[in-house]
Amino acid sequence: MNIEQLEQAHPILREMARGQEVTWINPDLADVETAMRGVTLSADDVEQAEQRLQRFAPFIRASFPETAATGGLIESPLRAIPAMQAALNREGCGLRGRLMLKMDSHLAVAGSVKARGGIYEILKYAEDLALSHGKITPGESYERFAAPDMKRFFSDYSVHVGSTGNLGLSIGIISAALGFRVNVHMSADAKQWKKDLLRARGVNVIEYTGDYGRAVQEGRALAQRDPESYFVDDENSQNLFLGYAVAAGRLRRQMEEQNIAVDRDHPLFVYIPCGVGGAPGGITFGLKQIYGDHVHVFFEEPTQACCMALGMITGLHNDICVQDIGLTGRTEADGLAVGRPSRFVGKTIRQMLAGEFTVRDEKLYHYMKELMDTEDIFIEPSSCAAFEGPARLCRDAASRAFLDRMELTGRLDAGTHIVWATGGSLVPEAVRQEYRQKAQQA
Ligand SMILES: *Cc1c(COP(=O)(O)O)cnc(C)c1O
Repeated sequence: MNIEQLEQAHPILREMARGQEVTWINPDLADVETAMRGVTLSADDVEQAEQRLQRFAPFIRASFPETAATGGLIESPLRAIPAMQAALNREGCGLRGRLMLKMDSHLAVAGSVKARGGIYEILKYAEDLALSHGKITPGESYERFAAPDMKRFFSDYSVHVGSTGNLGLSIGIISAALGFRVNVHMSADAKQWKKDLLRARGVNVIEYTGDYGRAVQEGRALAQRDPESYFVDDENSQNLFLGYAVAAGRLRRQMEEQNIAVDRDHPLFVYIPCGVGGAPGGITFGLKQIYGDHVHVFFEEPTQACCMALGMITGLHNDICVQDIGLTGRTEADGLAVGRPSRFVGKTIRQMLAGEFTVRDEKLYHYMKELMDTEDIFIEPSSCAAFEGPARLCRDAASRAFLDRMELTGRLDAGTHIVWATGGSLVPEAVRQEYRQKAQQA
């Protein structure tokens, strides 16, 4: 591939290649009806995923007592964060409307957004196995999955997944709870405490010196050699994607409970940190099914690992990686340390994504500290990338032009901004302390 030609066609790539922060507005954004043409997944698929999670709720409640309050549904709070908004505005963000936090950082079981997709994917696999082997009959309570003989049944099967950390946590914890033999292939970016936690739960953690792509490759190869094994394919899995998409319907209920309207006069802006694209892509897809053209979704990625922006801008998706334009792919945001995006996700949300803000690592610690100081909420640095969206939306020329063109500028006072906090509650105190020290220096 000729990078020079690409840079000529898309001058923004030059800034990205220099490691600068960019604001990219998606020229292919279309109304939702147009955006759905050619997309094989539908709102009905998301609904079926929601129903599957409801079937499994008795099992989840039995296996993870912390989910008792929600009846075995793994869901996170939606909270207004006015003090954080005031702090951002003191820094000149000029953000109008209401700023809220969707706290997937505090999702039960896995403490990150991966508790949606990852857990869903393994539950689906377990259900398929159990049904095809007559271990469960349709209509029976899924509390049955917590029975000892089910664990013995699943112990004949193994699960493999490549991860920078959080996906491994989610897949590892749920797979171990069901009784699967589970192998998590961790990239060099993965934090030690995540490996320790998994090992403590009986998960086989295999470490690699390479990046995320390498860990995935190795995991896939090992899984292929074992006929009774299942490989969780973060880059291509439709099940993961649908598990993430369920978040949208849950969010709608929370918005209704809090009497927050979303319509033409009350636009909704959502900001989600992006790695390979599955989590933010799935959520975007789900939100578009519900709110259509009234929701505007922006992704945030580290300047050194802006793979989704790169794939979308060039249209090359997984045929290009950040190293191709001279970036390192290295970032403090371990959850976002991905050099090559998902083609499946890129193509699916091609006309749904409003745009993207890339962000320098130092700012992550700044936002982390600011959120602790103003709202007393801790989220991990990766997750803090999302704050770059509301911080820049009303400041950058490109996003302001977008607001004008979409006739949103005059409607901002009645609008809502949701920062999607993607991880944090499982981070041990000692590691939080380390982060706080880095924040002091930032
Ligand atoms: C995985 C992850 C993301 C992004 O999800 P992808 O599916 O990789 O795009 C964002 N934040 C955190 C904390 C994560 O662990």
